[in-house]
Amino acid sequence: MTEELRCIGCGALLQTEDPQKAGYLPASSLAKIQADPDAEVYCQRCFRLRHYNEVQDVELTDDDFLNLLNALGQSDALIVNVVDIFDFNGSVIPGLHRFVGDNPVILVGNKADVLPKSVNPRKLTNWLTQAAHAQGLRPVATMLTSAKKGKMIDELLDTIEKYREGRDVYVVGVTNTGKSTLINQIIKRLTGVQELITTSRFPGTTLDRIEIPLSDGKALIDTPGIIHRGQMAHYIDTKDLNLVAPTKPIRPAVYQLNPGQTIFLAGLARFDFLRGKRSGFTIYVDNQLLLHRTKLENADAFYEKHKAGLLQPPRPNADFPELVRFEFTPKQKSDLVFAGLGWIVVPAGVTVAGWAPKGVDVLIRKALV
Ligand code: GDP
Repeated sequence: MTEELRCIGCGALLQTEDPQKAGYLPASSLAKIQADPDAEVYCQRCFRLRHYNEVQDVELTDDDFLNLLNALGQSDALIVNVVDIFDFNGSVIPGLHRFVGDNPVILVGNKADVLPKSVNPRKLTNWLTQAAHAQGLRPVATMLTSAKKGKMIDELLDTIEKYREGRDVYVVGVTNTGKSTLINQIIKRLTGVQELITTSRFPGTTLDRIEIPLSDGKALIDTPGIIHRGQMAHYIDTKDLNLVAPTKPIRPAVYQLNPGQTIFLAGLARFDFLRGKRSGFTIYVDNQLLLHRTKLENADAFYEKHKAGLLQPPRPNADFPELVRFEFTPKQKSDLVFAGLGWIVVPAGVTVAGWAPKGVDVLIRKALV
């Protein structure tokens, strides 16, 4: 590559190797730029931003990540933290509460359109707030949005105005939460004029920031998506992503189980009913995800034999981690949550086990429905 060719939008060194990293553009576009002295030298991310008002993610190195968080802490700003309501634990930014300092945080639970009607949004909002408290984060407001459907965006902007008090706004989130989709919705509502969007660098990083001007000279600043390794999405083929990022409201499935029975959630997770009397278990996962009932005593062998076969995804030859087991005996009706995949409602007093790929959380919460 030609030396020192930089994007005039964000200043990143142009590169053609890694679409996830700053400064990327396809080799064919670079060739065009090199052939045409009048061509606009933008990386793909800035190009899309300028021409389509669309933002894309970049992957952070640890140093950049820390510097980004430091920049948040040193600013006097309102922080908007976008999380995925199906994967709170896979959406949390480690240590965010330590960095935000005294800056207020609005917690946004995105992808609300996927919730079945039976879920009470208020209960989910309360749960999100409590889950944030458990992480040390104390949001001034918690809201549910659907970036994809453009729902609750105006309400979010109103809430931002309410708590902004003349400050800048930083939007932060890990990748796959829908932060880019949300920012694109905000851009649509706030500007529509491409020239108004400016990009510059976060101090001390290779990261570009996108500033959407607000009426009082302040800005809403999009920060790059942070990669969180504990997400189911990282362990499955992109072709199967719809199974962990449902696009349609979930239709729950009810299974009457005897103790000693197992349900496989394709080959991605497993649920064992260990002890208790025959009960109904309601499963909230993507409508297309294969559910397979079998005997607990044969379940290990069954998984060995049928993983990536009958139990797909994972796909054959995929590098998929082993399943790790978590046992629970909830005292009240609870949701056993497979982070990023969905949950199973478990009656009080029974003993169950949830299995998920190593690195992905299985947890229990008070039932939402
Ligand atoms: P980012 O990595 O956080 O910037 O997330 P993206 O905006 O790229 O979205 C990740 C995936 O979630 C994409 O497949 C989006 O279509 C999807 N998505 C984003 N927002 C929503 C939403 O509100 N509802 C649903 N169902 N899907 C969403």
